[in-house]
Amino acid sequence: MKNYFSSSFTLGILGGGQLGKMLLYETRKWDIKTAVLDPDNEAPCRIACNTFVQGDFNDFDAVYNFGKKVDVLTFEIEHVNVDALEKLEKEGVTVYPSSQTLRIIQDKSKQKQFYKENQISTAGFQVFKNKKQLLQAVENGEFTFPFVWKKSTGGYDGMGVKMIKNTEDLQQIPDAPCIAEDFVDFKNELAVLVARNALGEITTYPVVEMEFHPEANQVEYVICPARISDSVAQNAQRVARLISDKLQHVGLLAVEMFQTQKDEIIVNEMAPRPHNSGHYSIEASFTNQFEQHLRAILNLSLGSTKSKVGAVMVNLVGAEGFTGNPVYKNINEIVSLPGVTPHIYGKKQTRPFRKMGHITIVNQDINKARALAEKVKNTIKVVSEL
Ligand code: ADP
Repeated sequence: MKNYFSSSFTLGILGGGQLGKMLLYETRKWDIKTAVLDPDNEAPCRIACNTFVQGDFNDFDAVYNFGKKVDVLTFEIEHVNVDALEKLEKEGVTVYPSSQTLRIIQDKSKQKQFYKENQISTAGFQVFKNKKQLLQAVENGEFTFPFVWKKSTGGYDGMGVKMIKNTEDLQQIPDAPCIAEDFVDFKNELAVLVARNALGEITTYPVVEMEFHPEANQVEYVICPARISDSVAQNAQRVARLISDKLQHVGLLAVEMFQTQKDEIIVNEMAPRPHNSGHYSIEASFTNQFEQHLRAILNLSLGSTKSKVGAVMVNLVGAEGFTGNPVYKNINEIVSLPGVTPHIYGKKQTRPFRKMGHITIVNQDINKARALAEKVKNTIKVVSEL
């Protein structure tokens, strides 16, 4: 085994946002050297890594040249140049998760195809090269309203996803490769974090429940454990394991799912990295998701995924009507509540609905944590300087 600790070993991270920043808490804990690549010179990771390289993680040369200087390469965002990752792998650089996995995940049409080929339950879909093809299919009656339009590549946080209820909605979508998906009448949105190391050791975290903001299509509350039956939870964890195994994934994988009215589990999508739905683990789990990702990509034994306490996470997003230098209002009011820990990502500019931080609320009683989370949400506000 390599000596990662207090040595010259360097972990490279593509992307310098909040996920990278929280990963760096763990590399600091273990005294592991890091280098980060991000286009923004003021990215949240800047202050916590050993070497910061300003550059575009979508650019082949920027990623290739960066990757050549590190011992293991990982990423905190999936929109990175995958051709460069593939070349680096061929030249002997360890890249985890692999370029092959990333290629499948980057393109929603490939991702859906992967579920289909591996008999993993997912909503029915059809792939289209452009808007014209989709319009034609609707005209031919191959797709009827309502359905869900998803841009094949480049979407995130609900951008690039639209419910199509009528021809008017259809006219408004942009012209791009896309998928059309059957509308799922779900009871709950769930997520399972699964970690796998190169030796094939797999662990799953408890199932979490996600409550969405009705307009912004962003997660408002993440609740751990989900308030579901044991059999539904076990099924969700089984599906997550299966996906991780089929991909021969190395690292953390977040699998988002729907629980249908009939209690079936249908996979929505996945992300090959630490995930918003696992932030609660920093305060509530024996091993938080960032440490677990490090363990997995360094091929160390995986840690316990058990929770010490119930937890609810609230995303702290920029308030509507405010753009500019952020001001966090009423932080003292929320830290005076029991079990409440805010995380501020350090982004220089706030915008409506931009993720600026999150707050974790822990309590032995999950319903108490959920009630407190609502209070927190209604108290704290991210505005901008006047
Ligand atoms: P993103 O990649 O932007 O996170 P998702 O595929 O997760 O996009 O979709 C965003 C949200 O849209 C989901 O969390 C869910 O609320 C809703 N959604 C997505 N697909 C469907 C579907 N087939 N049926 C019903 N709602 C859906």
